[in-house]
Amino acid sequence: MEIEKEFVNAAVSFCEKFIKPYERKIEDEGLYINDILSEMGALGFFGISTPKEFGGLGLPLEVGVNVSLIISKYSGTIAGIIGAHQLAVLSIQIAGSKEQKEKYLSRFIKGTSIGAFALTEPEAGSDPSAIKTEAVLSNDAYIMNGTKAFITNTGLADIYVVMAKTDKGRGARGISAFIVEKSDVGFSFGRKEHKMALTYLSNASLSLNDVKIPKGRLLGREGTGFVTAMKTLEIGRIFTGASAVGLAERAFEEAVEYSKRRIQKGQPISNFQIIQSYIAEMKTKIEAAKLLVLQAAKLKDEESKEATLFSSMAKYYASETAVEVSRLAVQIFGGYGWVKDYVVERLYREAKMYEIIEGTNEIQKLIIASNLLRKSANKLAEEDYRLRKSNK
Ligand SMILES: Cc1cc2nc3c(=O)[nH]c(=O)nc-3n(C[C@H](O)[C@H](O)[C@H](O)COP(=O)(O)OP(=O)(O)OC[C@H]3O[C@@H](n4cnc5c(N)ncnc54)[C@H](O)[C@@H]3O)c2cc1C
Repeated sequence: MEIEKEFVNAAVSFCEKFIKPYERKIEDEGLYINDILSEMGALGFFGISTPKEFGGLGLPLEVGVNVSLIISKYSGTIAGIIGAHQLAVLSIQIAGSKEQKEKYLSRFIKGTSIGAFALTEPEAGSDPSAIKTEAVLSNDAYIMNGTKAFITNTGLADIYVVMAKTDKGRGARGISAFIVEKSDVGFSFGRKEHKMALTYLSNASLSLNDVKIPKGRLLGREGTGFVTAMKTLEIGRIFTGASAVGLAERAFEEAVEYSKRRIQKGQPISNFQIIQSYIAEMKTKIEAAKLLVLQAAKLKDEESKEATLFSSMAKYYASETAVEVSRLAVQIFGGYGWVKDYVVERLYREAKMYEIIEGTNEIQKLIIASNLLRKSANKLAEEDYRLRKSNK
């Protein structure tokens, strides 16, 4: 479709003009990040798939996913900020009341507010049903206490979607989602984590000490927070997969370019068959990962039951591809791949993150397997029912 193509081309032009010239300073120092985010908001990049009634463009998820892929090719930091922001947008889009959507989505989409999504806790990562943050209703407000860990956009964001237990005895069914504002009394941030990559991107703990949250900031009904978080992450993983593919594409392009320039034994190293085999391997994996990510987005657009399965497969395969492709890119650069003058060194470190965030790849494999096994169990039950019916 013409508008979709136009939007993807606009993303490339934007990145070439506003990100590429300052790439290293953006990654190391966060240079111009606020200006870049405001500009992206003004151009509509934050509301690509948000319904038009809330100020979005209402385009298919596939368009947003293609744009994420392009952005991460230019900047992992910007892609990371937008990824976390997107999780807050999606949570409110999925579970918010009309008033909440009107109040928060328009700000998110314009980029005048940045969002964050806070599920993980120091003792609850892969098993979010074990979170300890609690919100107790007292008259017309909830009083929230607890600690969140690793939260992306801490400090930069002014709106946080926070998961907390409203009924401690009900496990995942006792979790509710809340909108917490940066200015809420009792809400504070811990030390920024020192990470192996994306050093400017803020990841820190959140402390909630008797934070008073008006009832009107409960997202959805009490006890539906876990489902909201899982639905949000299902879409988030498609975007994460897209970002991983973008990173892999960048590493691939850098490596191919370098292999044509680097002379050994009187010829470009691209003449060597082992280097050619790496190039073939990298491109094949990138295209397979991209197809999987786009298929997941398409299934989500069609509201298919297969979307959960494909979202996990896309995130798992694309993140492994990013690690493998960036590793081979470093290998093609030889010793120069190991020094900071060349971008592939940074891409290799960044790629690892995608295997961990939004549910580790081990958790994705559990989701994939349980979906497939449930499907085959349903098939067996259907078969059994048909047989018994025909024997009557
Ligand atoms: C850069 C970064 C950004 C992040 N941003 C956010 C954010 O914005 N919001 C947020 O809420 N969280 C965020 N996180 C947290 C992230 O989602 C968690 O780190 C992740 O879910 C894993 O949890 P954990 O670190 O506690 O590891 P653990 O759950 O302790 O897992 C440790 C290891 O055990 C494995 N494991 C755990 N359970 C099982 C199981 N049942 N079967 C098999 N293997 C298992 C894991 O796969 C992993 O290999 C971020 C993390 C990072 C690194």
